[in-house]
Formats: sequence, C-alpha cells, structure tokens
Amino acid sequence: MGEPKGVWVCSENKDLTLELLGKGNELADKLQTELAAVLLGQNVENQANELIGFGADKVYMVEDSQFKNLRAEPYVSALTSLAKQYEPDILLIGSTKRGKEVASRVATRLETGCVPDCTHLSIDENKRLLMGRMVYGGNAVATHFSRAKPQIATVPPRAFEKLEYKERKGEIIKVDVELEQPRTEVVEVKEIEAAKVKIEEAKVVVAGGRGVEKKEDFKILDELAEVLGGQVAYTRPLCEDRKWFTDWVGLSGNKIKPALYIGCGISGVIQHVAGIRDSQIIVAINKDSEAPIFEVADYMIEGDLYEIVPALSAALKKLLKIS
Ligand SMILES: Cc1cc2nc3c(=O)[nH]c(=O)nc-3n(C[C@H](O)[C@H](O)[C@H](O)COP(=O)(O)OP(=O)(O)OC[C@H]3O[C@@H](n4cnc5c(N)ncnc54)[C@H](O)[C@@H]3O)c2cc1C
Repeated sequence: MGEPKGVWVCSENKDLTLELLGKGNELADKLQTELAAVLLGQNVENQANELIGFGADKVYMVEDSQFKNLRAEPYVSALTSLAKQYEPDILLIGSTKRGKEVASRVATRLETGCVPDCTHLSIDENKRLLMGRMVYGGNAVATHFSRAKPQIATVPPRAFEKLEYKERKGEIIKVDVELEQPRTEVVEVKEIEAAKVKIEEAKVVVAGGRGVEKKEDFKILDELAEVLGGQVAYTRPLCEDRKWFTDWVGLSGNKIKPALYIGCGISGVIQHVAGIRDSQIIVAINKDSEAPIFEVADYMIEGDLYEIVPALSAALKKLLKIS
C-alpha cells in the first residue's frame, strides 16, 4: 500500500459526522495524516466551520440543491469523484439507511471493499485499517482489513464519541462536481408517526414482547414509559408478524443503549438481546423463570406483567409524586 492520503468522514446526519470525526481524529493521528470531512448539501458553508471545530483539518464541500432530495445518486457521484480526485486512504461513512446505500455503491465504483456497521476501528502495525463488526447476534466481533483503497467502513450512530468543540483553523475546499442525474423520482414524501424522541436516543425504554396479548394492552406499558419519561419499544414479532407496530429493537432492528431498559413479556433470545446489550441497567419482567432474558438482566422480576407493570407505575407515581 502507498502512503496514506488522509482519513475522510461523511454522513448526512450531523451528530454522526461529529462522532466519525472523533474516531477519525484518532486514526489520522496514528497514521500521521490529515482528517477531512466531506460536506454535501446546499447553503452549508457555516456547517463547514463547525466541522473544523470538531476536529476536521479540511472540509471538502460540494453545494447543490440535488442533495436535498432522498435519492442516493447525487451523493454517490459526488463522493466517487472526490475520492478519485483526492485519493483518501480511509473513508468512514455514517451507517444510516442512505449512508449504507451510498457506501456500497461508492465502493463498487472505486473497485474497493466496504465493511458495514463497524463498531471497532483501529490501525495495525502495517498501517491498515482494522474494521470490526459484531456477528452472531453480538456475541463475537469479526475483524476485517481491505487490500484495496480507499478502505471504506460504515459506522452506526453512537459507536464513538465526538471531540470537544474548539476554535481551530482549517481549510474549506469548495469543489465543483458534475452530479449524475437520478434515475428515480420521489413521487411523494409522507411523514411517519414519529415518537417525540428517537428510540435510539431515549434514556428510558419500556419494551414489550409477545407476552403482551393485545395491542390495546400496550397502554399499561405506555403509562410506565410516561411516568419514567421514556419511550415504548417492541420485539420483532409484534411488528413483522402481528403488524401492530413498525420499528423493533434487536439485531435486525434498532440498537439502543438507554440508561434503563425494562423488558416486559420478552423471552430475550439472542436476536433481541443484540439490540439491548449496551443498556446500562436491564430489568426483565417475565413469568417464566427460565426465560433467557434473565441471563442478561440486572434485575429480574418473575411474574405476570399484567400485575407487575401497573403496580410498578403506581408505585413510581407515588414515589415521584405524580398524580
Ligand atoms: C434473522 C432474524 C432476525 C431477528 N431479529 C430480531 C430483532 O431484531 N428483534 C427481535 O426482537 N426479534 C428478532 N428476531 C425474532 C427472535 O428470534 C424472536 O422470535 C423474538 O425476539 C421473540 O419475541 P418475544 O420475546 O416478543 O416473543 P416470545 O419469544 O414468544 O416471548 C414471549 C415471552 O413472554 C413471556 N410471557 C408471556 N406472557 C407473559 C405475562 N403475562 N407476563 C410476563 N411474561 C409473559 C413468556 O414467558 C416469553 O418468555 C429475529 C429472528 C430472525 C430469524
């Protein structure tokens, strides 16, 4: 491999970009190279200075109204041509839905690889990027390296910490790129019924599983979540099979790390636990003493959720003096 030419980060999600800069800074220091952010958008110059404050030595900026829409093509063509022109050594892309789509297409065009959802990144003695991602439902970490450049990894939210903001000097490079015309058209954009706080950001999560017999019964979980200022979450069968809800927590759903997770009527098999294992405190309510969720729980409540959840809400209301 030739000499490194920089660590780049890119995401349409601002918080995630800052987290990527945090990790990118460590990797760039180790490689003694520069750290750059790629900023794609419209009227984004003020954001470029912020990215410098959070660690970027350079910001490559492409401004175009096409980045406003939901299509991947403009992002793919901008990133591909920037990477061809400046040849970064490492490209970290935020693992959002769009980021994953963009990363794999950019990798294909640059004839390199792409390792998705990396939660471990480091540099080895040969200056290669080691990219670690969870496998087997979070029970093992598979570590990859790439023989081709740029070395591309996608990184999920909250895997790494952002740096403290500091007034710093950096370079903003405006680049003109010919963007590819999208081959699809967005016909309609509908807002989904979104929770007030995204489940991945909730400090308290009260999750329900198949032990909750009817959709209406979720009102007892809603009440507990409200008392604790938290959000309600679900297991996959309630979304995929029963079609009661849309988003679930787990290996194939959202990964959460709240301060407090309360699982009600959830067996806690590996696919669900993969999404909750980073919770600080896990409380499990289950009537089966052998339920696997008890193996990962800090507090185990064996019993019927239909008795325990309302009793818990009532006791907390009393304690917290909520009428
Ligand atoms: C490829 C793949 C990916 C998957 N990804 C995910 C994922 O991301 N997230 C996910 O959640 N699942 C996922 N699953 C599904 C997963 O394997 C389990 O089927 C699912 O998590 C079980 O959901 P559950 O705990 O709600 O239901 P169950 O396993 O049926 O458990 C219900 C639990 O409720 C308890 N219970 C029943 N009544 C009561 C009561 N009155 N009071 C207290 N406890 C009670 C029971 O003892 C039982 O332990 C995936 C599966 C596959 C194959």
